[in-house]
Amino acid sequence: MSYLSNMIYGNGCKRKVEIPKSSRELEELCEFISTDYLTRDIYVDAMNKKRALKVGREFLDKYFTLHNLWQVDHDAIKRRIGKGTITISDLLAAEKECERYIHPFSLKVVYSNKYDIFQGELKARTYTKELGDITRAQPSFIKIDLCSKATIVTPPVYVHELTHSQLQSNLGSVRYYKNIELLPYFLELVCAHDMGEHDYILKILEKFLSNEIVKYRNEITNHENGTYRMTREQLVETGKYLSSTISALNLFIMYYNGSPSTKKYILQEIQKIFDGLQDLEEFTKRLYITDTIDNKVLQKHLVR
Ligand SMILES: [Zn+2]
Repeated sequence: MSYLSNMIYGNGCKRKVEIPKSSRELEELCEFISTDYLTRDIYVDAMNKKRALKVGREFLDKYFTLHNLWQVDHDAIKRRIGKGTITISDLLAAEKECERYIHPFSLKVVYSNKYDIFQGELKARTYTKELGDITRAQPSFIKIDLCSKATIVTPPVYVHELTHSQLQSNLGSVRYYKNIELLPYFLELVCAHDMGEHDYILKILEKFLSNEIVKYRNEITNHENGTYRMTREQLVETGKYLSSTISALNLFIMYYNGSPSTKKYILQEIQKIFDGLQDLEEFTKRLYITDTIDNKVLQKHLVR
């Protein structure tokens, strides 16, 4: 089962999935991005790997209290249970012996040339976990993969993956699958903004995300006109990223233009989501954050 299906069916997200469609508003936005905005080149400077992680960690420490992550030592479990069939209760007992909780910053980071500089991936394996009287599927976190070439965008990308760890370890924190990437992208942008440099790093990420919006739109229209057929799962995945990216930009524009108290409020509300005191959708509904773009507002923000 893919990660996405697991998120939809196994981790408490809503089951109803939507196939994304192109719309007039999206066409207009992509038209603006492609012709007026993306024509400017971007340069991304290298950064020391250790320093990149440190910057990401300091950003999260400054605003949030992160929760420890559950980790089952998979190799120890394999040794413990050996070969052959075992009962569920044997497996649960073995997990108990091989489990531990680690701080998210202790999660292994692996640099790989499989990823480009804007990409990262949080790897987890699902186990059945006993929680009081019930057992349920719970991710055991393994590692974070990052691009082997560390740059000034590595801290925000690392923050993105650590944000996923906080949401995934708190099942039900995101109710709707289309919002899975919303907070990771939002905090990625806030981290870039926080890094200063006259928003140079932020603008690089905004450019990357704008490029992604055009890429997703192209995938959808190519599917619609039959040029390139995608599977249902690929379409759902594209729709998830498109929705999350636009919602994250909407939330970020509110944050960016907000007063210090608005900024503080938004970050405090995100802490409540990490703490399991509210889910993401309660928060976005209160702020009227949706995945529909006000093209004028976004254009004004991007060309500032
Ligand atoms: Zn992500």
